[in-house]
Amino acid sequence: MGLTSYDLVIRNGKVVTGVTQTWFETDIAVKDGRIVRIGYLKNVSSDVVIDVKGRYVVPGFIDMHNHSDLSIIAYPEALNSLMQGVTTLVIGNCGFSAAPVLPKSLNDIKRFWSQLSLGISVDITWSSFDEYLRTLETVKPAVNIVPLVGHGTLRINVAGFDDYLSNEDLEMMKELTVDAMRAGAFGISTGLIYPPGSYASTNELVELAKVVSSYGGIYSTHIRSESHRLLEAVEEALEIGLKAGIPVEISHLKAAGRPNWGKVKEVIDLVRKYREYGVEVNYDMYPYTAGSTSLIALLPQSLYRDGFDILISKLSDKGFRNEVIKLVESSSDWENLLKILRWEDIVISYSGSCKPCEGRSILELSRELGKDPYDIIFDLICSDQGRTLMVMHFMNEEDLIYGLKQPYSLIGSDSLVIPLGMGKPHPRFFGTFPRVIKRYVKDLGILSLEEAVAKMSSIPAQKLRLNDRGIIAPRFKADLVVLNIKNIEDRATFEDPNKYPVGIDYVIVNGVISVSEGEYVGVRNGEVVKNLTT
Ligand SMILES: [Zn+2]
Repeated sequence: MGLTSYDLVIRNGKVVTGVTQTWFETDIAVKDGRIVRIGYLKNVSSDVVIDVKGRYVVPGFIDMHNHSDLSIIAYPEALNSLMQGVTTLVIGNCGFSAAPVLPKSLNDIKRFWSQLSLGISVDITWSSFDEYLRTLETVKPAVNIVPLVGHGTLRINVAGFDDYLSNEDLEMMKELTVDAMRAGAFGISTGLIYPPGSYASTNELVELAKVVSSYGGIYSTHIRSESHRLLEAVEEALEIGLKAGIPVEISHLKAAGRPNWGKVKEVIDLVRKYREYGVEVNYDMYPYTAGSTSLIALLPQSLYRDGFDILISKLSDKGFRNEVIKLVESSSDWENLLKILRWEDIVISYSGSCKPCEGRSILELSRELGKDPYDIIFDLICSDQGRTLMVMHFMNEEDLIYGLKQPYSLIGSDSLVIPLGMGKPHPRFFGTFPRVIKRYVKDLGILSLEEAVAKMSSIPAQKLRLNDRGIIAPRFKADLVVLNIKNIEDRATFEDPNKYPVGIDYVIVNGVISVSEGEYVGVRNGEVVKNLTT
C-alpha cells in the first residue's frame, strides 16, 4: 500500500470544530477542497504541510451580514474580510441586493445602492438574479458568497420609489422572488428604514416570505425601528416568521439611543417566547457600540417618493430645508435617528467631496465652520449626491454583552469589501471577527473561544442550511482559519480604522491557502454558493 496523498495537511492544531465545547489537538488532511481526515496522520504525503503547534484551527468565519454585492466585483480579493478569517460573505442584506435589475429600473437601483457604496462604482451588466450570480463567478472572489435577494431592490423593480403597491405589483414581486430563489438565493432580506422598503406593509412582507419559505429560504430583516419602537419592530419580524412559517434572522440587533438602553433584554424575552411558538429566530450582532449607515438615512422616509435625485436637488433650497427640519423635530412615526442622536454622536466616516470631514463629528464641523448642524448634514448630502456615510455612537456595551451571551446570537460585520484608505469607515469593516475573540473571549471572558467560534461559523451555517460548511469534520469544505490566541488583535479603531488585524495566521478557502503567516498570497479561491433545494 502506498502513502495516501493529500493536497494539504495541517499538523498539531488545537482544533475547535464549531460543534463541540472543547478543543482537541489533531492533524487535518485536505483533498480536492474538502476535509478528508481528522486524526493523527503518520504516514502521509502531501503537497503542503503546515505545523501549527500551539495555535488554534477553527472553521472559516461566515459573515452573516455583509453588503459586498457590488464591491466584491471591484475588489474580489476581499482583503478586509479575508484578513479577519472570513471565508464566506452573506450578501444581499437590509433589502439591498444587486439583482434583479429590470432595464427600466437600472437608474433607480444605482441610486438606491449609491447610499451604501462609498466611492465604489460598478457597472451593472446583468438583469436576472441568475445572470448576477454568473457575473460573480467570473470575477472569482477570494471568499465564498452566499446571496440573499433584497426586498428593496425587488420593490424598486416593480414600483420605483412609490409607496403605493398594487396587487399586480405584489404578484410581480413574487415572480421575481421565485426567480431569485430558483437561481440560488438563500432567502430574502428587508431594510424597513430604507425607502422604498420602509413603505411595505406587514402583509406584503408575509406574502413574500411565504414564497421564500416554500423554497427553503430565510427571512433576514433590518427591522422597522432599533430605537423607540424596537420591541414592536421585533414583534413584527417574529409575527412574519410565524405567519409565513419561515426562519427569521434579525439583522444587527441593538437598542439605539440612551432612552432605549436595556431593551435588548426584553427583545431576548420575545425571541424566547416566539421560539416556543415554533419560530426559528436568531439575530446577528457586531462587537461595537456604534452603528453606521448613510447620512441620508437621517432624512424623513416620506420624502423619497419622487426618487433620490429629486430629493437631493430639492435639498439645496432653504425653504425645503426648513420643512425637513420641522418634520425631523416633530414626527416620530418613522425611524427618526435624529431623535436619539446628539450632534457629537454622529461622525462622518466617508465623504467623496469633503475628505477633511471624515472622522469629524457634526458638532465639531458645525463649531469649526460656524454653520448650523443641519446645514452641515444637508450640504454634505448635496455635495456627495447622497453618498456620505456616518458612524453613530448610540449603543451601550451591556446590551451588546447581554445579546452576545445568548445562544441565538451570531456575528455579522455589516460591512462591505473595500480597499484600505477609503475614508474612515466604521472599524467593523476591518476588525469584527478578531475583536469578538480579543475583547469578548480574551479580555472580558464573556464567551469561551468555542462559543465565539460557533457564533462565527457553525451557527450561521446552520441558519443558512449550508450543509457542508461551518464545521471542521470529514466531507466538509476546507474553509479554515489558523489563529494565534496570544497575539490576536483587531487593530482597527474609530480614529484609525484602516488596519488589518493580527493573529489570523492562515486563512484557507476551499482547501487552498489564501493567507499565510498573516500575508495574503494572491490566491482567490472562493465559490458562489447556491441554495438549490428545489
Ligand atoms: Zn441594516
